[in-house]
Amino acid sequence: MDKKALCRKIIDVLEQEYPGAETRLDFKSVFQLVVAVVLSAQSTDAQVNRVTAQLFAKYPTPFQLAESNLEELEQDIRGVGLYHTKARNIQKLAQVLVEEYAGEVPEDFDLLLRLPGVGRKSANVIMSVGFDKPGLGVDTHVARVSRRLGLVETANPRIIEDKLKELIPIEKWGETHHLLIYHGREICHARKPKCHQCVINAWCLKIIE
Ligand code: SF4
Repeated sequence: MDKKALCRKIIDVLEQEYPGAETRLDFKSVFQLVVAVVLSAQSTDAQVNRVTAQLFAKYPTPFQLAESNLEELEQDIRGVGLYHTKARNIQKLAQVLVEEYAGEVPEDFDLLLRLPGVGRKSANVIMSVGFDKPGLGVDTHVARVSRRLGLVETANPRIIEDKLKELIPIEKWGETHHLLIYHGREICHARKPKCHQCVINAWCLKIIE
């Protein structure tokens, strides 16, 4: 089976296993999604949701967040890792949205990449989840599972993103991101993958470093 056919098979099986796989981040607007995604770096979705429940009540749009006091904002997001840096990033991000985009999030991958704290993974997630446009973000789960399956032969997220986008039909990019994350969280754990319980075991090269 070639790699494109292998991807189709794996996606089919994972769709059955994780129906309706989607982001677990809570948000009510694309702006709130952007903030949640920036906060999620090196933090769990549960930690982010605990913080954003109050954060979004206090600063529901970029206009309030742009005017926030930085020290107070740091305290507001203390529940996530790297909160000093993230507080600066989300405040600056809100200021850019207000000053350059009239408070709207730009629906453009390259413009998203220019926002503070937004890297390629985040921009892909925002395009796909926020705007229902093609996007395939590579996080630690997507990278690990893809390598173990033998779909990619590198740890470089940028190269993995390009390779997966080549192998996977464009209409499946966003869903595949979520399916591989679910599978990485539930079964293909970093330390002890549960290969004996894995529904895609038969197609996996099990390249486990
Ligand atoms: S067979 Fe093992 S290594 Fe391969 S995807 Fe499943 S859990 Fe991961």
